[in-house]
Amino acid sequence: MTELITSSSKAIELEDRYGAHNYHPLPVVLTRGEGVFLWDVEGKRYYDFLSAYSAVNQGHCNLRIINALIEQAKELTLTSRAFYNDKLGLAEKYVCETFGYDKALFMNSGAEANETAIKLARKWGYTKKGIPEYEAVIVAAKKNFHGRTTSIISASSDPSARKGFGPFMPGFELVDYDNIPALEKALSNPNVCGLWIEPIQGEAGVYVPAEGYLKAAEKLCRQHNVLLMMDEIQTGIARTGKMLASDHEGVRPDLLILGKALSGGVLPVSVVLADDEIMLVIKPGEHGSTFGGNPLAAAVCMEALQVVKDEKLADNAERLGKIFRERMSALIKKTKLVTLVRGKGLLNAIVINDTPQSETAWNICLKFAENGLLAKPTHGNIIRLAPPLVITEEQLHECCDIIEKSILTFDNK
Ligand code: PLP
Repeated sequence: MTELITSSSKAIELEDRYGAHNYHPLPVVLTRGEGVFLWDVEGKRYYDFLSAYSAVNQGHCNLRIINALIEQAKELTLTSRAFYNDKLGLAEKYVCETFGYDKALFMNSGAEANETAIKLARKWGYTKKGIPEYEAVIVAAKKNFHGRTTSIISASSDPSARKGFGPFMPGFELVDYDNIPALEKALSNPNVCGLWIEPIQGEAGVYVPAEGYLKAAEKLCRQHNVLLMMDEIQTGIARTGKMLASDHEGVRPDLLILGKALSGGVLPVSVVLADDEIMLVIKPGEHGSTFGGNPLAAAVCMEALQVVKDEKLADNAERLGKIFRERMSALIKKTKLVTLVRGKGLLNAIVINDTPQSETAWNICLKFAENGLLAKPTHGNIIRLAPPLVITEEQLHECCDIIEKSILTFDNK
């Protein structure tokens, strides 16, 4: 029987003592979640404004998804891909039909899905585009975040993601995000097999590119016979007010990379979608994962997506996102502490008027927590604000009141 933890300090002490120090969490110890709410071990209730980095778009412990999990867990959880299982094909069909692709390749974490996309793009580059062996280049954007593996950080421009972890994987070229001339130049290299971007840079601080950037990127990819690899792990599954952030500009990536809310945050499920011409360059034995495509994940993923559709979460994100940004714009007029609000749907951030090195944003998040709302700074002075998409208008206003009240108290000090 596991020991019952009833105090925050005990849990924090245990993690500090026995866990690797690879995160710097806010001092809040959570024990229960339901919908937009989380509770700590002392019984205090919070609005969740991080949503596990947009993995719980459908709300914490969504009953339908949990029931799908339980029902499937009682039947079969894992067989490996050495055999067929009776859920994987259904989930593959479901995601292919939902997003409009020929084929799906399931993995677990977002990083693994990105690794899969890198392999697909490279192999396609050699076998279809005719790039000389091992000279393929993937163009990525500065300030990207695609995960933590050694290949992925090789394409990162963030010193804290890279320092001390070289040597790095060759074959990546970085260009400025939201800069079309830079893309034009980079993609004209005939050895480029893929352009790997996020439709909004989430981890970087919710950078929304200028309207038309994604469309221009798609056009340039077509022009230069380059695969558009879209990492929608954070932006996808209704977060930005459409099923995919690419949908805002009518862009159809060649490789669509999804994770996080694909399972409603219940277990790690990620997927890469592509058409036959691309997906079938990978042959049996060339790629895989013990857990990828397991029947438990397959059942959960189908229900998680069905919940998004049935509950019209994209529409809710679109509508409430506008209200949220209006409220934050009104707040900016009342304080010098917040300089900017940006985002799409319910993926938003406010920028704090201070240097990225300062503690201000962290202290504001502590104040939010004190007042019953959880959020965390990203890159020092940016606070991402992304509640579960099941939030109601009334709850959203209450949360805006908490944000405003917290910042104004702080401001007066
Ligand atoms: N790609 C994007 C855009 C992300 O935001 C993240 C996680 O935050 C990842 C990839 C990595 O996903 P995971 O942590 O599941 O490996």
